[in-house]
Amino acid sequence: MDDPSAALERARAEAARLVGDLEHELAAIAESTAESPDDEHDAEGSTVGFERARVQGLLERARRSAADIEAAIQRAESGRYGLCVSCGRPIAAERLEVLPAAARCVDCLG
Ligand SMILES: [Zn+2]
Repeated sequence: MDDPSAALERARAEAARLVGDLEHELAAIAESTAESPDDEHDAEGSTVGFERARVQGLLERARRSAADIEAAIQRAESGRYGLCVSCGRPIAAERLEVLPAAARCVDCLG
């Protein structure tokens, strides 16, 4: 197998950037609501609430994927990269190409 570290490093940088972007976006939303705590505009308030929930959801997902990538880097360091954490069989190369941090083979996906 090719050395996966380059792909993992790329994925890690990408995930970190995404988390940073979303944190920034969330902070901007919090700031905009702090500046105009206007209870009279209910419709607007719920839009902001919806937007905040959406960004928060994306942020949680981005953090999880960053954690997955860290775990994959750990596995690479201990020589178990590319092996399914459930059944121990090799994960298909095509799958790892799309998802370098994949921890399970297709058969073991929930
Ligand atoms: Zn498996």
